[in-house]
Amino acid sequence: MNSIKKIIYQYGIPALGHLFVCKNKYCNVIYYHDIVREGGHSYMQTNLLLFQQQMQYLIEQGYETLRFDDFEDDDLFRYRNKRVCIAFDDGWLSNHAEIFDWMKERGLKYNVFLAVGLIGNDERYLTWDLIREMHESGLCGFGTHTYSHTDLSHIDVAIFAEEVERADALFEKELGYTPKDFCYPYGRFTKESIQQLATKSNYRRIYLSTMSYSYPMGKVVVMGRNGISNDDAFCVFKNKVKGYFNIFTSLVQ
Ligand SMILES: [Zn+2]
Repeated sequence: MNSIKKIIYQYGIPALGHLFVCKNKYCNVIYYHDIVREGGHSYMQTNLLLFQQQMQYLIEQGYETLRFDDFEDDDLFRYRNKRVCIAFDDGWLSNHAEIFDWMKERGLKYNVFLAVGLIGNDERYLTWDLIREMHESGLCGFGTHTYSHTDLSHIDVAIFAEEVERADALFEKELGYTPKDFCYPYGRFTKESIQQLATKSNYRRIYLSTMSYSYPMGKVVVMGRNGISNDDAFCVFKNKVKGYFNIFTSLVQ
């Protein structure tokens, strides 16, 4: 990013987003992937110390954090200043090993979208036992992220349906409840597939990986999300948390 673009990104976009903050109707969502002790890289790996600093900021500012289960309450699902939903994509083991106890001590709730077929089959990912412990603690919520972490933007309707149904069935068998939250792998989606999910699944909320305002579609709400990059300036993190970056997609389209 050249310096002018960087200034526009860091200061211009959130300033405009602040003016249009009333366009945020639903709880603002930020997301991460893996949490690592050494280094950190872009959106995929966040350094543990940086993550803890960001969480500390939320505590100091008096943020309320929610888990997906809370969203069944319409009032809790609404956008509020100082309210945020923290999500993690894929189901990395670090989402328990590195942060569960730390978040629990501080009462910070968070959520994980599971690439369900990877769970228990790859040591880099969570196990069902850990996931049950996390859910039963009341601290963590879970959603699905397909069965095999497939790019859903280029597959036919039948395979798409199979990916979703297989993921939901295993999720329900292991956790004993129906997932209501779904997130597209790689952030790749088509409008037709959102419509398919909205009419033919049990999902209540469909999450994208674009910084955009969330909006209702039939019986679901299509949720914009703010990816937190390990390389973001701290002011960018603060404004993503506030929902000021959700104007981004409207500006670039
Ligand atoms: Zn993913």
